[in-house]
Amino acid sequence: MTLRPLGIDPALCLIGGSWVPPEEGGTLELRNPSDGSTLCAIAKGTGADIDKAVLAAQAALEGAWGRLPNFERGRILYRIGQKVLEHVETLAELEALDVGKPLKQARADVIALARYMEFYAGAADKIHGATIPYLEGYSVYTLREPHGVTGHIVPWNYPMQIIGRSVGAALAMGNACVLKPAEEACLTALAFAQIAQDAGLPAGALNVVPGLGAEAGAALSGHAGVNHISFTGSVGVGKLIQSSAAENVVPVTLELGGKSPQLVFEDADVDAALPFLTNAGIQNAGQTCSASSRILVHRSRYDEVVAGMAERYSALRAGPAMDDLDVGPLVSMRQREIVEGFLEQGADLEIAAQGQVIADAPSGGAYVAPTLFAGASPDHTLSQDEVFGPVQVVIPFDSEEEAIRIANGTAYGLVASVWSQNGARQMRLAKRLRAGQVFLNNYGAGGGVELPFGGTGLSGHGREKGFEALYGFSTLKTVAALHG
Ligand code: NAD
Repeated sequence: MTLRPLGIDPALCLIGGSWVPPEEGGTLELRNPSDGSTLCAIAKGTGADIDKAVLAAQAALEGAWGRLPNFERGRILYRIGQKVLEHVETLAELEALDVGKPLKQARADVIALARYMEFYAGAADKIHGATIPYLEGYSVYTLREPHGVTGHIVPWNYPMQIIGRSVGAALAMGNACVLKPAEEACLTALAFAQIAQDAGLPAGALNVVPGLGAEAGAALSGHAGVNHISFTGSVGVGKLIQSSAAENVVPVTLELGGKSPQLVFEDADVDAALPFLTNAGIQNAGQTCSASSRILVHRSRYDEVVAGMAERYSALRAGPAMDDLDVGPLVSMRQREIVEGFLEQGADLEIAAQGQVIADAPSGGAYVAPTLFAGASPDHTLSQDEVFGPVQVVIPFDSEEEAIRIANGTAYGLVASVWSQNGARQMRLAKRLRAGQVFLNNYGAGGGVELPFGGTGLSGHGREKGFEALYGFSTLKTVAALHG
C-alpha cells in the first residue's frame, strides 16, 4: 500500500513552495501501528535539506510573506482553517493509520487544528507594542516583531494539535517556519502543508523536512539561521535541543511531558470525577504529555474510587484505530516494549483492573491492555516516571498536606487537578500545586485552544496555545526618540 496524502508523494520535502526529494535521496518506512503493515516511504531529510529549508524561510521573510500586513496573514490562516475543515475525514483517517489513534480521537485533533488556525487568524492583528511615558523630551514605544525563522520539532502523539498550536502562532506573528515532523508519524504534517499552500500561504513561509531526529532534527535545532525553536517530546531530547540552542543563543520552548496527578478529596463528587479520572489516563492510549497517570485519593474515598475506575477499565476495549474503540495501539512496537517494561516494574503492585485487547486484533499491532494499578507508594517507579501508555496508578493519602507533598513529589510539573467541593481548598491548592495548569473539578477543560499551556520542572518551559504563545513567538524592540 502506498499512501498519497492529498495527492502528495510522502517521500518528498516541502521547501520554498515546491515538493522536492531529499538531497541524499533517502527514505524511511512508515508503518501502520494497528497491524504492522507498511504504509509508505517518507523522506529521510538530512542537514542539507534543513539548510535549504532555512534559506527558503529566510527568503520568504525578505519577500512576499515578510511584507504582508498582519491582517492579511490572519486571512490566510483563516482560509487554512476552513480548508482543514473541508478535509476532516481524510486527515482523521491519515492520523488513525499513522498514529494508531481511534478515528473519533483523530477527528477531534483535526477540529482542534482548524480551531488553532481560526484563533491565530483572529489574533494576528491584535498583538502590538505599547507607548511608554518617559522623561521630558522623549517619545518611547515598543514594536512587537517576529523572531525570524522558527524551527518546530514535533512528536508523533498529536501531530495536528502540536503543529496547529506552534506553527499557527508562529505564522500569525510573521515568522517563517521549518517543521521537522516525527519519523513515526508525519502524514498529516505533509497534508497540512499542502492545505496551507492551497489556501495561499506564500512559498517558504512553511517548509517541511521529515527525517530522523538525530539527523534532520539535530540539524534544525543546531542551525545558526534558526532564531527560535519549539520542541515537544522527550526530556532527553529536550535537553539536547536546549544545549544546541544555547550554542546559537536562541530561545526555546520545551514541552516535555509529565506525571500529572488528579487529587480526589473526601468531599469530592466521585461520580462526576470518574470519567475524567479514567479518560485522562487512556486517551490516545496514554501517549499524551498531559495524561493523568497518578490518581491521589483520600483514604475515606479510596475503595470507592478504585472500584469505580476498575469498573470502567474492565469495560475498555483496545483494537485497530479504524475500529474506533476506546483505545488504539501504541504508536510503534518500540513504544510497546517501553510500556511493557513499565508493566513488569509494576509486578509488586495490585492490578485493580485491566481492559481487553480484542480477540481478533492483528498480531502485528502494537497493543497493550490498559492497566490500573492500586496501592502504589508515591516513590514507586510507576508513580514517578512517565510511562506514555494506558497505565494509571492510584495512591492513597490521609491529609491535604500529604496530598500536596505527593502531587509535587516528582520531577515534572505539567498538569494537576483537584476534585473537592471546598472553594477555599480549591484556591489553596491552585496556588500550591507545582504545575503549569491546574484544573478544578475537571481535567483538561476540553483542551481549548485559548488556554495557555506549558510546564515547569522537567515538563519544560515557555507557553504555547492562547495569546501567550504569540509573545513567545515574537520579540520586543524598544524605540526611544529624543525630540526636545
Ligand atoms: P523524541 O523526543 O525522541 O522525539 C520527538 C521529536 O524529536 C521527533 O520529531 C524526533 O525526530 C525529534 N528528535 C529526536 N532526537 C532528536 C535530536 N537529537 N535532535 C533534534 N530532534 C530530535 O520522542 P520519542 O522517541 O518519539 O518518544 C520517547 C519518549 O518521549 C516517550 O516514551 C515519551 O515519554 C516522550 N514523549 C513525550 C511527548 C510529549 O508530548 N511531551 C511526545 C512524544 C514522546
